Amino acid sequence: MNVDAVVKQSSNPFISAQRQLRNAVDRLGLDEAVYEILKEPARVAVVSIPVRMDDGSVKVFTGYRSQHTVATGPAKGGIRFHPGVTLDEVKALSMWMTFKCAVMELPFGGGKGGVVCNPKALSRGELERLSRGYVRAIAPIIGPERDIPAPDVYTDAQVMAWMMDEYCQLVGADAPGVITGKPLVLGGSAGRHEATARGCAIAARETARYQGWDLRGATAVIQGFGNAGSIGARLLHEMGVRIIAVSDSTGNAYNPQGMDPGAIAEHKRRTGSVRGFPGSEEVPDSEFLTLECDILLPAALENQITADNARDIRARLIVEAANGPTTPDADPILFERGVTVVPDILANAGGVTVSYFEWVQNLTRTYWTEDEVNQRLEQSIVRACRRVLDIGRQHGVNLREAAYMAALERVAAALRARGWI
Ligand code: GLU
Repeated sequence: MNVDAVVKQSSNPFISAQRQLRNAVDRLGLDEAVYEILKEPARVAVVSIPVRMDDGSVKVFTGYRSQHTVATGPAKGGIRFHPGVTLDEVKALSMWMTFKCAVMELPFGGGKGGVVCNPKALSRGELERLSRGYVRAIAPIIGPERDIPAPDVYTDAQVMAWMMDEYCQLVGADAPGVITGKPLVLGGSAGRHEATARGCAIAARETARYQGWDLRGATAVIQGFGNAGSIGARLLHEMGVRIIAVSDSTGNAYNPQGMDPGAIAEHKRRTGSVRGFPGSEEVPDSEFLTLECDILLPAALENQITADNARDIRARLIVEAANGPTTPDADPILFERGVTVVPDILANAGGVTVSYFEWVQNLTRTYWTEDEVNQRLEQSIVRACRRVLDIGRQHGVNLREAAYMAALERVAAALRARGWI
């Protein structure tokens, strides 16, 4: 294999996901059939979506929906609108959803969708027509008992609302349980908007506690200032953490004295960027992740912490708000250096956990208060964190391996009970 092919392979998230699966199957000494069944998604849909653009032309977009497994329940997972979406990325993300739901003991399998597009370059009308077109294309394989989408990178409650509406019109029935992350007025759950970030903050706190240190007075670097990053910064700040650096797709802002996340959000709303936040300086991109801090919160995309920069990371704790930010080659380097990584399938599971609550509320037509939702979320994350931390300690493995062990044990039990293995 030439160097380019090796680089390409190591940055292919699906290859990473398969390596993580292989590792966990071997560690647990599971039947080879578990690996064979889970190494590829059970079903993948590739769709092309014609959209009438504002200038009258028709543009055809490519979309994907991957259902990794339904052995543990209906497929569950978000929909990403991003120019860099690929089939392999969506497949990897769907596999990670299987393990995320399993580690949280949610009755779901893994799913994920994506549309190759640049939502920032679309008008509101174009975005709506694309969202509706995507749902029409995948409608035959989704549904409250089949596969339940949700928000992901660059999709939000409004996109979910259009998608739910389109689905309901297609099937001729009210079906709020077909999608989660909806606006409250359409059956969304209180607390869902903040849930991913809240889960990250609780996971950070529990891990620190388990290791005998306190978040108060700690410093944090936040990569990405979308839903998880911006709210994560705010919640950590409320816990007494000093936010010393934040970035978004346009640049970054660094101030070792600490910055107010609310004021940064306001600055970004006004200027479109976190750059130039009063009192901050900008560090070169290549130095951002290696800034000295206690907590590093990667909240952007995959493949950020790799074998190339893992030796230079100066954080004590990495909390993976994004999916797949650390490559399999980086994991052992970080572990050896004593950097604790709370893996994505645990750290950012708050989102899908409250999605589960939303789905339950939709199916039962009863609605919970924000306090109830937050309390249940807190309990779920604390329980899962302690279980994973205990496995890590008992087996002397990093937390990703520990989380995979907990998750895979459960998925394998479901496969066994169904008679598939
Ligand atoms: N996209 C989120 C994730 O990666 C949420 C998925 C969901 O709520 O179903 O976990």
